[in-house]
Amino acid sequence: MTDRHPCVLVVEDDSETRDFVARALGEDGLEVRTASRAETARKLVRDGDVDLVILDLGLPGPSGLDLCAELRREESVVPILMLTARTDVASRVEGLEAGADDYLGKPFALAELRARVRALLRRGSRPGPPGAVLEHAGVRVDVRRRRAFLGAEELPLTRRELDLLARLVRAGGVVVARETLLEDVWGADTPEAAASLEVIVSRLRRKLRQGGRASLLRNVRGIGYALDEDEA
Ligand code: CA
Repeated sequence: MTDRHPCVLVVEDDSETRDFVARALGEDGLEVRTASRAETARKLVRDGDVDLVILDLGLPGPSGLDLCAELRREESVVPILMLTARTDVASRVEGLEAGADDYLGKPFALAELRARVRALLRRGSRPGPPGAVLEHAGVRVDVRRRRAFLGAEELPLTRRELDLLARLVRAGGVVVARETLLEDVWGADTPEAAASLEVIVSRLRRKLRQGGRASLLRNVRGIGYALDEDEA
């Protein structure tokens, strides 16, 4: 861990909102960078040193959704908090599918934005016990380095996917209740977190399937999820 201040990139084309958010986060002691277009934001993320992206969905040119999907294709694991006036469930799910870690509808309360930023940054820098490597059912999670492997293959996971997988690996095959997962991984049992859980599970399944092991992640109807040993 360095003692540099975490750097948050605010991507928003509306200057009033952008300045408002930037000022508030700056007051919280964060280093803040801003961009009004996806292209500029992409360059800043690629250059590194960005610890969190607050991303507006509606941007001139490529949208926030386009940028999010592109960063994930490039296997960037930078946490992304999506910010948008579109609060319906479909677009929320669309954002999470594109690889966002969290979602906040406009208008938002500044206190809530701050809390979510803190939570995402905390997850990103959480060191875990030194050298903690969790292993179960052929899945290995290096908690400290935040990397996950299926056999010898590294799984390209977003932050939330990794947190969820680590929680299931830690349980060692025991079913973890949905409520527990929501509390441990999302920090709250809310409808938004529950919707996010569904999306993250299906994304995680898809990635495990690419490794030929989709059956690992078992949905225990009405209860929760477990990571099973391979039956073969
Ligand atoms: Ca906008």
